[in-house]
Amino acid sequence: MQSLEISVRLHTDPDSIKNNSKDYGNLGQEIPSAVLYPSSINDIITVIKFANNLSTPFTIAARGSGHSVRGQASARGGVVVDMKSLRIITGNGVKISRNPDSLGFYADVRGEQRWIDILFATLEHGLAPVSWTDYLHLTVGGTLSNGGISGQSFLHGPQISNVLEMDVITGKGELMTCSKHTNSELFYAVLGGLGQFGVITRARIVLEKAPSRAKWVRLIYSDFSKFTQDQEHLISIANGPNYVEGSLITNHSSPNNWRSSFYSPSHQSKIFSLSRHTQGLLYSLELVKYYDHDHDLNAIDQELESLLKELNYIPGFMFKKDVSFVDFLSRVGSRDSTQSTEEEKIEAHPWLNLFVPKSRVSDFYTGVLLNIVHRCNLISGPILFYPLSRKKWEDRMSAVTPDEDIFYALGLLHTSYMSNESEIFDKVNDEIMEFCEEGGIEVKQYLPHYKSRKDWIKHFGPKWSVFQEMKMKFDPKMILSPGQRIFNLV
Ligand code: FAD
Repeated sequence: MQSLEISVRLHTDPDSIKNNSKDYGNLGQEIPSAVLYPSSINDIITVIKFANNLSTPFTIAARGSGHSVRGQASARGGVVVDMKSLRIITGNGVKISRNPDSLGFYADVRGEQRWIDILFATLEHGLAPVSWTDYLHLTVGGTLSNGGISGQSFLHGPQISNVLEMDVITGKGELMTCSKHTNSELFYAVLGGLGQFGVITRARIVLEKAPSRAKWVRLIYSDFSKFTQDQEHLISIANGPNYVEGSLITNHSSPNNWRSSFYSPSHQSKIFSLSRHTQGLLYSLELVKYYDHDHDLNAIDQELESLLKELNYIPGFMFKKDVSFVDFLSRVGSRDSTQSTEEEKIEAHPWLNLFVPKSRVSDFYTGVLLNIVHRCNLISGPILFYPLSRKKWEDRMSAVTPDEDIFYALGLLHTSYMSNESEIFDKVNDEIMEFCEEGGIEVKQYLPHYKSRKDWIKHFGPKWSVFQEMKMKFDPKMILSPGQRIFNLV
């Protein structure tokens, strides 16, 4: 790589290597040979082209915020491209334009930008993207490589459904603009494509007028089927909520956690005493209705009242907040993936995220949520469970979902503390996957992590042949995102 070091900033110092060997998961390390701190996208093109010209090319991984949990942004023995350095050089501005086709607005954002910065930059124009993640310190390139889901996805689709155009540096080092109409193969391959086809340097994102405030409600249930029926009702009605999520409250997944400190101490103790009568298991439905300063407040309250009237939560267990749009969207505070504090150094995150087909939710509830998750007596973290609508996911995108109109997103966001505890969680995760496999519950992993080619082929199902074909077309030397372990199995 010597001649390469002369033309771009490749770093091999211990700090650069260390900071790019681990990710938020903290479940192991993958040591790169060098780190590129690009000062322009030309630097990335240079490195990719250089690798292509070698008889044995090295691998290259773009690293956004490094918030993967299983080494997906790593490049063992290769080059990690620290996208953050572009952000530092180019700043946080976004270019906003009016879409001549739809008369709506869009923003051209860069692959390395974080959603939190895009939020503030677009709000300066009274606009905002429509689809979010719960946590905004993730990059555009990182979430568009997966999907980008949250409580708005049932309405607007995941973030990948709200992209109009992208600039991508392919695995051959070619900078290409792609959209539904231009280079559409590349466009759809990259969306949810796990970084396999190119490095996203620009994305054109749909914007809408930003609301100014949010009525934020949480409702407690002791009956799982009432909880899911109400979630499904809310995502099916016209003029319903702007956001719907849900979570489980267990002895090991308290109502307040790092994701959100919604409840006051008195509300928490009220919920705790209720959970003593329900074997320590409750369900929290979360919904939000946006509104503007100039709206009639009484009318908004009445709209919310009539929504709530139709729901079957436990009487007296409705909790409400009225917050600014910004405070709602930025409710999950920054979580540093470089593991800065002593506590964070010993934290690991053996997460499992699944999409569960609606038709098997009841079996999944008994077999997984009750008999595996609730019974395993471990300190854990948030357990998210909320419905999504498949018709908001374009089938040509690489992202994979169950083959049903409605499916649920499960997020088992475990935190483990002792050095061997993550293995225990991984055993639980394996048990869940085995239960689904044996019971024929066709779940799909979100933020997938598999160890064998066979599992990847099963994951992609009918999309596998196109996925493979696109890899041969755009990254034939298998250079990009080796940490996903799809084509670079170790
Ligand atoms: P990285 O971890 O840096 O990279 C992820 C993958 O994308 C790698 O394969 C990498 O090579 C590739 N990549 C990175 N940048 C680019 C680029 N510019 N072009 C092409 N490929 C690229 N997800 C949700 O959908 N909803 C949530 O609410 C949500 N909340 C989260 C909360 C926390 C605390 C954490 C840690 C994760 C959360 N995630 C959520 C998961 C998150 O979306 C993914 O892990 C995402 O990949 C992280 O983005 P990143 O910028 O850190 O990507």
